[in-house]
Amino acid sequence: MRSPPTDFSLQVADEQTGITAMKIFLDGEFLEKEDAKISVFDHGLLYGDGIFEGIRVYRKCVYRLQEHLERLWHSAKDILLEIPMSPKEMEEAVCESCRQNGIVDGYIRLLVTRGRGDLGLSPDSCPSPSVIIIADTISLYPEDHYTDGLSIVTVPTRRSGPAALNPAIKSLNYLNNILAKMEAAQSGALEAIMLNDQGYVAECTGDNIFIVHKGRMYTPDVSNGALRGITRGAVIELAESEGIPVKECNLTRHEIWNADECFLTGTAAELIPVVKLDGRVIGPGKPGEVTKKLHAAFHEEVSTRGVLL
Ligand code: PMP
Repeated sequence: MRSPPTDFSLQVADEQTGITAMKIFLDGEFLEKEDAKISVFDHGLLYGDGIFEGIRVYRKCVYRLQEHLERLWHSAKDILLEIPMSPKEMEEAVCESCRQNGIVDGYIRLLVTRGRGDLGLSPDSCPSPSVIIIADTISLYPEDHYTDGLSIVTVPTRRSGPAALNPAIKSLNYLNNILAKMEAAQSGALEAIMLNDQGYVAECTGDNIFIVHKGRMYTPDVSNGALRGITRGAVIELAESEGIPVKECNLTRHEIWNADECFLTGTAAELIPVVKLDGRVIGPGKPGEVTKKLHAAFHEEVSTRGVLL
């Protein structure tokens, strides 16, 4: 078996920089990292009952924060979770977390858990959801992933369908994706395509997927089991403003193998080219012009689209 690759996406920054002091927002208070603790009876831990967002900060701009908060509130509605603060208060708490930690470029993990209850499944025993905000620095994927592109695989674990755990909910229950990520690692790949029950491409374990074919872009419709990624939405907007038509549709591996270009989008990865899927080389086997153009356009907007600290 090949040795599993390192997951570079979100290494904890303090291991690399030696910075240990960190203030965590927990239920209205800013606590030192060591003191920020939740109960072992929190249903977020016992059952993965909760929701989250991963958000980037670029040069003191919290990138598309409103869209992340909107998605958080949508996820909450789906799971009948009442977030114990208003969107405005949440925006302020997110920004204050960044300020308290001196974040200029970084990554924010925002969680709302069901809160402490008893050992039963029912959330009726959990009167107070918990809000946690961690504002940290981020170590980026190595540069060669962007210059050379990724080789990815399709894994056996399927994306859960909207009739089971709807993938549109960014829930704390990521076991489905974790299994797929482990299967990718067993094949020596950093990312993997997850198909849905019908065999259509849904998305990757932590990223959305796009292809470029004959000057047009295609991405799986969210009804195929994709998260409505914030980066996905940004890239669709950027492509349209560059005059590149984008279609959300059903895709099979056939379309990906035969595409001119392929790339993934996500908050941590941004836009990352894919040059091989399941041993088939995509296009000329190197990052394509459309991918490069959109990544450049994405970088132009990141410090201007969002809430300034
Ligand atoms: N799909 C999944 C399953 C994800 O967890 C994520 C976020 N890491 C994405 C797609 C990309 O979404 P976004 O651009 O909002 O980060």
